[in-house]
Parts: sequence; structure tokens; C-alpha cells
Amino acid sequence: APSLLLETVSSNGDASAIAKSIVAEATPSTTMSPESRGQGRGLLHRSFTESPYEVSSALGSYLQLSTGVSILDGCGGAAVAIIGHGNEEVMAATVAQMQKVSYVHTLSYTTSSAEDLADLILEIPPGGFQHGLEKAYFCGSGSEANDAALKLARQYFYEKGEPQRKFYVSRSQSYHGNSIASMSVSANLPRKVPYQDILMHNVSFVSPAYSYQYQRSSETEQEYVVRLIAELDAEFQRIGPENVISFIAEPVVGATSGCVAAPKGYFAGVRKLCDKYGILLHLDEIMCGMGRTGTYFAFEQEDVLPDIVTVGKGLGGGYAPVAAVLISSKVVDTLRAGSAAFNHGQTYQAHPVTCATALAVQKIVRRESLVQRCALMGMLLNQLLVDTFGGCKFVGNIRGRGLFWALEFVRDKTTKETFSPSCHFGFNVQQNAFNLGLAVYPGAGTVDGVRGDHVIIAPPFTTSVVDLGKIVTLLKEAYIQEETRLD
Ligand code: PLP
Repeated sequence: APSLLLETVSSNGDASAIAKSIVAEATPSTTMSPESRGQGRGLLHRSFTESPYEVSSALGSYLQLSTGVSILDGCGGAAVAIIGHGNEEVMAATVAQMQKVSYVHTLSYTTSSAEDLADLILEIPPGGFQHGLEKAYFCGSGSEANDAALKLARQYFYEKGEPQRKFYVSRSQSYHGNSIASMSVSANLPRKVPYQDILMHNVSFVSPAYSYQYQRSSETEQEYVVRLIAELDAEFQRIGPENVISFIAEPVVGATSGCVAAPKGYFAGVRKLCDKYGILLHLDEIMCGMGRTGTYFAFEQEDVLPDIVTVGKGLGGGYAPVAAVLISSKVVDTLRAGSAAFNHGQTYQAHPVTCATALAVQKIVRRESLVQRCALMGMLLNQLLVDTFGGCKFVGNIRGRGLFWALEFVRDKTTKETFSPSCHFGFNVQQNAFNLGLAVYPGAGTVDGVRGDHVIIAPPFTTSVVDLGKIVTLLKEAYIQEETRLD
């Protein structure tokens, strides 16, 4: 025990001998060989049984495996690499920041890289969308950003004198992260299984806005929207709208169903309902934001103003682990008039180097008009996918925005009957594609475990027209292999 150790040291003064004996006791007599740990090396992979491929270099839209195989990156990892890999300007900016200031604690200090990044991503260019967002909080991952956003929303009401607001409402087709709080508001059921009993209980879920699978054949799109908004209203009523903190949703749903945009008018209806009850609207743009859907924010295409937005992936383009909470003036003003602080803080918040790296990425995006390029390339990708897969037997739905597209696979296109979960159609297509030298992002439905079997195509905004064509051609070949296997 430390106190005993201190007593002994002070009585005989021989600290070094005692320290040595403690270290000797704590060291096992035989050192485990790396092999005996199961996978040979120390890194914990996502699976204990399947080792990932080692990537030895990456440039532009291509990954080079240590085996010498080249992979065309058709999904930017998980829609992360927006400017491609190996950009020297970003590397130089990162090194320059490290040489200048590598770290400061934000309790007392700030840096120009963090300040400039915040200003740049909140800036509204002439004629740009008036988003009403005033402040940015930077952290290291989407999960952390959503955690911070959930706390911020609660603090907003606490300071407004409405501490009874304790509930969050989310959708049963959503992914918001892996931490306890962000997973609590997620509906990615497979990931939640071991943790269900310990997740937050002040969260409920309403139906996804997912026309292909859930709009009834007897209803129009507008009627479907009315039904969804009525359901949300009923859920607010059940909880008591005066008890609800926020509604959280992805404007274009990413991994849980594959690039699902809501039907027209849905988010306007959600906004109206939130305003009626004073509930905050938190839009999660971790995956679909930062230009990915062809506009800087995905919500611009819904013509709504959120109260809180979270962004990640494309913010640092994969060059740095960075995400952000973007906060509207309405929320900022309340905190400013109240405690005058966000009651939250992290060692690595607004980290100078990650902010400098993201700043370099975002400067390139603006200088080279990459969001506009993404929108144009997206139109081409849309056309290519429709032309190539439109007549395919098992491709039920082709959907997306910008360079964020998915193919949804179904056993029967007329009835939309799904494949059995054990079929893993999307995963097999992804695996076939990989074997052909193409990376796409797979996903299985998470609403009911089957609907939403898909692959996502989300290449860097810088991808060439030739490579875009190659992505679609290789994906078709991968799909045909799986179709043939099932026939
Ligand atoms: N929100 C959305 C919409 C996401 O797609 C993700 C990650 O895939 C997250 C949150 C969590 O982000 P991270 O994995 O960086 O914690």
C-alpha cells in the first residue's frame, strides 16, 4: 500500500531498493510472446479473428496495401477522405503548427489555428445560406461531439429555468456514436446489444423518414410526411412536450440504412413542431455534412435552421481526428445571459494541431470549389448508377445526394422483400469489390435488422471522372458475382 511504502521509506530512507522490489513483484516471471496474445501483435482490432489489411501508403483516391495491391477508395473510408489522401499542403500546415505550438490548455489559452478554423467553417460567403450558427466547439470524434451537444442542449434549458426537461427523442434509423450518451440516442441495434441495460433511459425513438421502405403504397409523399410528423407530435405529447430537451436526427442518414434523405417537407414539419413546444433541433451531420451532399450543410437542402449541428468526418478529411459542435445564436445567447460558459471541457478540445490540419483541408475545399465539384460529380454518379444498376434484379433503390450514394438490395424489387439477414448481400458485394480493387462501405439495415441492406459510395470530392467511372464498373462486377452466386 502506498502509505506503508511511504512509512518504510521514511524509516530507513532506502527508496530505490523498495521501488525495485515492487517493480520485480509486479513483473510476471515469463514474458508473454506476441503470438500467445492470439493475433500476433498488440493492437486490438475490430475482430479477434479477422485481421484487417495493412495500408502502407495512400495517395489521391488510391490506397496501397503492404501486399502491393492497389485499392480505389470509393468511400473515403467512411465518407471521411473528402480531398483524397496524401495532400502535401495539409501535411506542411500540420508540421508548421507543430513547430509553432503543439499544445495549449484551453482554460487559459487559445491559438490562431483553432480561432481561424471556427471562423472559417461558420463563415457565410456572399449569397450563402444564412445558417444562424455562431460558435464552434472542437473535439476529437463524432461521438464526443454528440455527447457535448446533448449536454449543451440540457444546459440550455437548465439555464432557461426549465430543469424539468430531461428527455431526448431520436429515430429508429440512426447512428450518433459509440459513447454511452451518443449510443443511447442511436438506434444501431447490433452495436447496442451488450449495453442496453446501462444506456440512458431518458431517450425514445420515432419512425425513420425512409420512403423506399416505409411509405405506404396507398399514400402520397405528403401524406407520409403528415403521418411522420403526427407520430412525432404524439411522442412529444406522451412524454409531455415541456419535458423534452431535443430531437436529434441525421438530415441524410448514413451507415444505418445508406444515404437516406427524408421526404420533402419532413424537416420543415419537424422544425415547426419543435418551435411549437420550444424543443431544440439537433442535426447530426457527422457523416453527411461538410459538403458531402453537394451543399456545405445537408440541412441547406431542407431549408431549415437547426439549433445545434454536429460535424465530423469531412471536417478534417481524415488527416486529423476532429469533430465539432456548431451552436446557434439562440443557444449561445441563453448561455451568455446565464452562466456565461458551456459547462464542459476536454484536455484536447480545440487542439492546435488538429485544428491547423482541418483548417488546411477546409481552405483547400474553398479555394478549389470542391463542394461545387462534389455536387457536379454527384450528378454524374447518379446518372452512372441509374444507367448501370437500374435494371439489376436485386437493386431495389438507388439514392443519395452529392457524392453520398447507396444501392439498397432486396430479394424482390416488386414486393421489396428483403434478403434473410444471414445472406449478407451488401457485405458480400463489398467483399467482392475489395477483391477487385475497390473499397465501398457496407451496411445492413438497423431498423428491423433487415430493411436497408446496402453499400455506400462516397469517394473523395477530388476523384477524377475516369475513377468515378471505374468505381461504378468495378461495383457492377462485384454485384454480378453476388447475383450469380444466388441464382
Ligand atoms: N454520427 C454519425 C451520423 C456518424 O455516421 C458517426 C460515425 O460513423 C458518428 C456520429 C460517430 O462518429 P465517430 O465514429 O467519429 O465517433
